[in-house]
Amino acid sequence: MAEVADGPPSSAQAVVVGAGVVGAAIAFNLARLGLTDVVVLDKGTVAGQASGRSGALVRTHYTNVDEARIALAALGWFEHWADRVGGTCGFAATGFLQMVAAQDHSTLRSNVEQLRGIGVDTTLVNADEIRRLQPHMVVEDDAVAAYEPRGGYADPVATTVGLAEAARRLGATVFEQVEVTGLAVAHDRVRGVHTSHGTIEAPIVVVANGAWCTGLLAPLGIELQIETARAQVSFFARPAELPTGPDGHLTIIDRTNGCYLRPAGDRHTLVGLSAFRRPLDDLDGYDESDEPEFTELARRQAARRLPGLADAPRASGHAGPLDITPDRRMVLGSAPGTEGLYLAVGMSGGGFKKAPAIGACLAELIVHGKAATAPIEPFRFSRFAEGQPLTGADYSLPADGVDPRRRAALQHQGLIH
Ligand SMILES: Cc1cc2nc3c(=O)[nH]c(=O)nc-3n(C[C@H](O)[C@H](O)[C@H](O)COP(=O)(O)OP(=O)(O)OC[C@H]3O[C@@H](n4cnc5c(N)ncnc54)[C@H](O)[C@@H]3O)c2cc1C
Repeated sequence: MAEVADGPPSSAQAVVVGAGVVGAAIAFNLARLGLTDVVVLDKGTVAGQASGRSGALVRTHYTNVDEARIALAALGWFEHWADRVGGTCGFAATGFLQMVAAQDHSTLRSNVEQLRGIGVDTTLVNADEIRRLQPHMVVEDDAVAAYEPRGGYADPVATTVGLAEAARRLGATVFEQVEVTGLAVAHDRVRGVHTSHGTIEAPIVVVANGAWCTGLLAPLGIELQIETARAQVSFFARPAELPTGPDGHLTIIDRTNGCYLRPAGDRHTLVGLSAFRRPLDDLDGYDESDEPEFTELARRQAARRLPGLADAPRASGHAGPLDITPDRRMVLGSAPGTEGLYLAVGMSGGGFKKAPAIGACLAELIVHGKAATAPIEPFRFSRFAEGQPLTGADYSLPADGVDPRRRAALQHQGLIH
């Protein structure tokens, strides 16, 4: 993938900072819309950070309708990857189940209605239907869940590398081990980027460098409040009573027990915890493994649904960075006060599934002046200063494993059960 032997060029039509799934999707879509000279720079490697470590769940269930629209647009890309991007992204349409605690059933009902209103294929399912969809699962008799037959998961590395390779086939160049050290701006217009390998002049620069974004933006006076955190996933041997194969069980987010899970390969199950986050101060030197404390809690919480996981051996695991905005939703669009500069940052733990549509939207904005794939105005940077953060009717979580820094806020909102 790397082209650093020749070194990056001294000019380009557009520079994308960051070769995670978001940067790769933007570069691919810029090239798809006709830009012939797009340069992507990553100070590490393609998919080397959050994108390569993602749980990679693909679902449309969101409590905020604007986010759901982006996720819905992205779903079509995962489903038709070979035609639209080329190759495979490892998408497995296992079906997706969103489970919530009893106190949130009415919120779930109204969220499902809202999602159906924008065209999401989702229904409410009762305990018997859940048991049919997912045998061997412990289900309360009064359970209600939201089911999406089109949901599932993808391979995060194949997805990101696939987008970067597709961008290259259309003329983009991707440079690994090249760090953007600053943004070049004059007279309120972006002029390019300064890098560890010299300056690249470009009239368009897209900042898509995830948890590192504030370091590039703050010198321009663009103060984005990003909380960085370390999220983890563990892989367990799949219980023998569940079928083998990449679609051997459903993909599930279970807010009742604060966990999510999906098949991984033929014989494993990935488990994550929705609210278990560690502070992340050293972005370039953090612990990339999953901690025993996390693994134990993940196993215990997931085993409340799939009891066979209770003594399932851990096969592997890892951690990656999250970039969380104050309203826990991404920032997309033009940067304030600097023509030609665009932002696709603050993914807040949900950027993977939306990335193909984020790429399409940003490229449409840059090339045609407006995003057509889905509306992105709600994600504008200025929403915080305008007092218009994005909201949604969220579901509660168990206190177990909640990041202590979030505990007070969740308690205040009545979101801990
Ligand atoms: C454990 C875990 C589980 C997750 N599960 C899910 C999930 O199930 N579903 C979902 O949708 N999302 C999930 N996410 C979130 C999702 O993975 C991220 O939102 C998404 O990958 C972010 O992509 P990105 O391209 O913005 O960031 P990244 O992948 O972090 O990419 C940013 C890139 O920028 C590079 N960079 C940084 N600074 C510079 C610089 N100055 N110059 C050049 N390059 C630079 C970095 O090296 C990095 O490669 C999860 C995340 C984690 C960590």
